[in-house]
Amino acid sequence: MASGLSPWRRCVSIPFGSRMCALAFVVIGFSAAAPLRAAPAPTSAAPGRYEFDDSHFHLTNYIQEGIDVHKFLGIMGKRVGRSTLFGIPLQQQWSHRISGDNAPTYYLDTDARLYYYSFTDATIAMAYKSLTKAEQARFDPMITGFNPTDMYAADHIRRVLLTFPGVFSGIGEFSIHKEFVSSKVAGDVASLTDPALDRLLDFAAEVGLVVLIHNDVDRPFPRRSDPPMFLTQFKDLLRRHPNNSIIWAHVGVGRVIQPVGHHLDMLESILEDPICHHVYFDISWDEVAKYVISSPEATRRTADLINKYPDRFLFGTDNVAPADSASYFKVYDMYQPLWSLLTKDASEKIRKGNYERIFDEGRRNARAWEAKQMKRGK
Ligand SMILES: [Zn+2]
Repeated sequence: MASGLSPWRRCVSIPFGSRMCALAFVVIGFSAAAPLRAAPAPTSAAPGRYEFDDSHFHLTNYIQEGIDVHKFLGIMGKRVGRSTLFGIPLQQQWSHRISGDNAPTYYLDTDARLYYYSFTDATIAMAYKSLTKAEQARFDPMITGFNPTDMYAADHIRRVLLTFPGVFSGIGEFSIHKEFVSSKVAGDVASLTDPALDRLLDFAAEVGLVVLIHNDVDRPFPRRSDPPMFLTQFKDLLRRHPNNSIIWAHVGVGRVIQPVGHHLDMLESILEDPICHHVYFDISWDEVAKYVISSPEATRRTADLINKYPDRFLFGTDNVAPADSASYFKVYDMYQPLWSLLTKDASEKIRKGNYERIFDEGRRNARAWEAKQMKRGK
C-alpha cells in the first residue's frame, strides 16, 4: 500500500473481529466503450421509472436453498427493472464426521469440502420457466454449475443451453480465486492460467454469452510490499479473450481482500487499455460499498472514475436469497452518496443502461446460437 496516495485508505471493521487498515479503491484504466447494439424496447414492468437493474443476484445459497422466484419478483416490485438470476455453483458438504448434527449453511461453518453442484443450472432454469413470459422478460438467468478446472466445463455450458433453450444469457458468477473458498473446493484448485478456463471462455465467446467472473485481485493478508498476487495473471486472461463480454465482479475486492494501493489507478489502467474494451466492473456487494463510502474523498474519486468511463460499470446487489425487501435494498441505499455525485448520464448507465445493453446482447446472441444448433439438429 502506498500510503498518502490512495483516497480509500482507512481503518475498517472486518468480520473476524480485528481491525485492519484498508485502502480505498484505486483504479486501473481501460477506456473506449465497447461498441454494442442498441437495447431493445424496455422489458421491465415499469419502463423508465424503476431505480436499477441488478447485475449480480443469487437466488440460492451454498446449500442450494433460497427464495421462490415469485417472492423475489415481489421484492423487486417497482424499484427494480430487471435482474440476473443464478445460484451458487458450489455445494457445502455436510460431513457428519466433522460437524456432527450441526448442519453447515455457509462455507465458513465447517472444514468440510465444497464441490461443484451442476444441478443448480436446472434449478435456475425451472424457476425461470415457472414465470409468465412478461415476468421472464425481467430476468437474465446465468449458467454457473461448471468446474473451471475441467476441460469439459465448456461442454457442460453447451449442454445446458441445448437442454434449456430460450433461458440463459450468460455464465457466472463463477470464481477462480476467492478468499477462503478456492482452497476448500474438492479437486484441483482453480487457476487463471488453466487451459480449461481458456476453453470455456472461448466457447462463451463463440456463443456471445455474458461472462461474470469473481477473482480476488490479491490473496488475504498479503505483505504490504508485494504487488497484488493475481493482477498480472488476470490482465493476461482479459487480453487473451478480447471477444468475450467480461464483468469483473466486485472490482476484484473481497471481504478481507481489500482494495490494494492505487486500486482506482489499477482499474483505470484496464479501462484505458484498448485491448480491454470488453471488460466491465460490477460494484456489487456491501463490502465494496463500504469502501466506496468510507470517506468523502473515496466516494468522490470513485464517482470521478465512473463519470469518466460511464459505459464500463454496473450496479449489482450480490444478495443471496434475501429474506425481505429491507435486506435486498440495503446495498443500493448504501450507495446514495455515490449516486448523488454521478452525472445524469453515468448514473443512468451504471444503474440501468449498461445492464440492458450488455445483457440484451447476451440474450440475443444465445437465442441466435441456439436457433442455429436446432437447425443443424444439434
Ligand atoms: Zn456473488
